[in-house]
Amino acid sequence: MADYIYTLETRLSPDQQKAVTLVSNAAKAAGMNLYLTGGAIRDIITGFPIRDLDFTVQGNALKLQKDLERAGAVVGDADAETRALLLTLPGGVRAEIAMARSEHYDKPGKAPQMAPATIIEDLRRRDFTVNAMALSLNEGSRGLLMDPFNGSADIEAKVIRVLHNYAFLEDPSRLIRATRFATRFHWPLEERTQARYDAAKENGYIEYIRNASIGHEIEQLAYEDDALGVLKAYEKEGWLKVLNPRWSTAKVDTAGLGALMKTRQQMNELGYTPEVAPAVLHFLTERLGDKDVSDLRRAIPRKDLVESWKDLDSNAHSLAKRLSGKEAATPSRTWQLLSSARPEMILFLAITARQQAVAQKIKNFFTKWRLVQQKIPLPEMTELHITPQMPAYPKIANDVFMLLLDGKLRSRTETLKYLKPLAPPPPPPPPPPSAKRGRGAKALAAAAAAAGPVAVSGKPGAKGKGKAAAVLATPVPAAPVKPATAKAAPPAKPVAPATPAKTEKPPAKKAVARPAAKHTTKVKPKVKAKPKVKAKPKPKPKPKRKK
Ligand code: ATP
Ligand code: MG
Repeated sequence: MADYIYTLETRLSPDQQKAVTLVSNAAKAAGMNLYLTGGAIRDIITGFPIRDLDFTVQGNALKLQKDLERAGAVVGDADAETRALLLTLPGGVRAEIAMARSEHYDKPGKAPQMAPATIIEDLRRRDFTVNAMALSLNEGSRGLLMDPFNGSADIEAKVIRVLHNYAFLEDPSRLIRATRFATRFHWPLEERTQARYDAAKENGYIEYIRNASIGHEIEQLAYEDDALGVLKAYEKEGWLKVLNPRWSTAKVDTAGLGALMKTRQQMNELGYTPEVAPAVLHFLTERLGDKDVSDLRRAIPRKDLVESWKDLDSNAHSLAKRLSGKEAATPSRTWQLLSSARPEMILFLAITARQQAVAQKIKNFFTKWRLVQQKIPLPEMTELHITPQMPAYPKIANDVFMLLLDGKLRSRTETLKYLKPLAPPPPPPPPPPSAKRGRGAKALAAAAAAAGPVAVSGKPGAKGKGKAAAVLATPVPAAPVKPATAKAAPPAKPVAPATPAKTEKPPAKKAVARPAAKHTTKVKPKVKAKPKVKAKPKPKPKPKRKK
């Protein structure tokens, strides 16, 4: 049996993993059983990117709201009818937590009757087999996959299959969803599903779509990687006019959307993961009238998405203004300003900036200025004992970078001249191995020497140079440091400053530089050298025996 927990842990991003832990803790505290459901399970199995996390709890999900908000969740919507929360969890992770429910449809176009249910009943109300699986996150059954419709076989066969013959009649938004998934995954509809789909289309079932479903599907479009491709498919199938009667591909700023995706890709390569959904909606609706745009906004359930979409223009405008002013008068100040700006704002402005100077500054931020980091003389800094172990290291490295950016340090010599006075005093020499004599003393000295020349000689100079410098230099990246998360303001402290916490561990393990002095005298001789001294006479007879 597949180890789904292992797959879960390897496939989710660190932020998504934290989100799973957060929701698990909240559900546990409330005494509710929790399952990961929907697209997340499908994508874990298929290997496609996991866009959002859909959780289902056996109980009222709304009861978790306060707990989750205290842990940093932003609630985009709390639906009293389905008792579901739409959340943005720390790190920008999108999630939905819904109450497990059964649905009973009396009439097409009418909302189903809902009732709290078990997880298995809940899976019966789902749209397609590949979306009707649940993974237990509960103690005792953690990792158990519930797949009553054999969705995993359909994933393997790469087909989209409805759960029953009335799927499209009961909820015509499934027609739109089928088109969306077929376009995204390039999976066909299973034969009978296709026949039902065609019949539903011919008989105009879509008329009965509920407003809430329209809003949900507009929102989902924003998160598609190829939103334009999906929009075109909607247009072809006749679904786009269902989302808005005047929406068409002609209303899309295709060049803007293309540039958005391209620039996003470039930012991803540098380690930024900006949330593009608001900007996608902006370009998808660029040529739609104001009224239509506000209709679309009203329909979208996730209010934080709508707010970000609305604020795009004004935020970009104010960032452009700041980039044109005194605050960005020098490269270093511009660097600091852009490092503290939200990646999504930089991305949007990079595409929409009208002033050449603003666009150029953003370009420099992503290209030319990053290369300046390579001018930081890391090996020499190590020789000077300016290493991540120093509390002042982040500031020193950052200051050097800023001075280099502004051209105030123009050569390596100038940089070293600047750095020298900032170097800490050299490490003290180790206590002499006076207590030992003869072989023991020699072994002690040999062990100390092997552990690091700095410790033996007490001089950080010539002997210590090669090895210590090489080891210490490794954890300090010469290349641009990648930002940790989408929301984190990346490389304001680009070089070592951004990673001192991470870089402290490896050198300590290898016992170099100053900590090494202690290790060599205390640990190595006592533990390793002593047995060696005693053991030496024993191995000697071995060659004799051979002879
Ligand atoms: P993705 O989020 O990657 O677009 P998804 O399958 O997770 O895909 P969501 O819109 O997030 O899609 O919905 C989560 C889950 O809720 C779905 O997987 C499906 O099980 C269920 N679902 C959503 N909409 C419907 C619907 N109209 N009818 C039945 N089940 C639905
Ligand atoms: Mg989903």
